[in-house]
Amino acid sequence: MKRIFFSSLSAALLGISQAAAASEVHKPPVVTREQWGSKPHPIPASRKQTPVWITIHHAGELWTARVDPATFVRNMQVWGQNRPRIEKPPRDTYWPDLPYHFLIAPDGRIYEGRPVEYEPESNTNYPLNGNIGVEMMGDFNRQRPSSAQLRAAVQLTAWLAQTHRIPMDHIRTHRDAAPRETDCPGKDFTRYMKDGQFKAWVAATLKGETPDVNPGPALRGGPTAPIPGGKTAEVRDDAARPVTGEKAVFTQP
Ligand SMILES: [Zn+2]
Repeated sequence: MKRIFFSSLSAALLGISQAAAASEVHKPPVVTREQWGSKPHPIPASRKQTPVWITIHHAGELWTARVDPATFVRNMQVWGQNRPRIEKPPRDTYWPDLPYHFLIAPDGRIYEGRPVEYEPESNTNYPLNGNIGVEMMGDFNRQRPSSAQLRAAVQLTAWLAQTHRIPMDHIRTHRDAAPRETDCPGKDFTRYMKDGQFKAWVAATLKGETPDVNPGPALRGGPTAPIPGGKTAEVRDDAARPVTGEKAVFTQP
């Protein structure tokens, strides 16, 4: 959605009484499928969708400093393609591509997953058609999302809401979609959806503001450990390091 605002600064610079400009949420930088080396299998046309929900997830796996986000994404894609063979007991679940549309690393880098024109995958039972799945790496029952990860989630959600004209009440967590089956995205992220903070950040971003997105204090009975790899300095180091053994090379900051 486009919003109009008046910029008194540019009005002054232009020497006119007022100037109108369109304020749009810019697409946040993403590591494209080509950059991380995606090898998707074809998805049947019967699974096409028009996005009407943005559904937020965590990976539910403890993030450690040793994990490379691109490797994590590639491994998840291969696992989904092979799971009928590798899961014990064998299950008739084949995922041709990543189950999510976007995946956010602790340092805030956003990885492009399944194309949004195809419905996602899930191990839980809820209507998948119409969902854009946004996953944050980590387990937020055992560790806390980083500021960079929260900021990327807010920016991405605002841009997706704008692009697909998804209203605020269609932004939800996985547990909102399948309440009896999962506590995803974990205690320390769910708080921001329950108290309205996440949507307040998204709403401010949609208005052209830059909200101060930072984690709240540790929850009583919740995780206290920050997710590793969430520091800006580590982003710089990591960005300069090519991914070994794969064709993907990081070009994102
Ligand atoms: Zn989930």
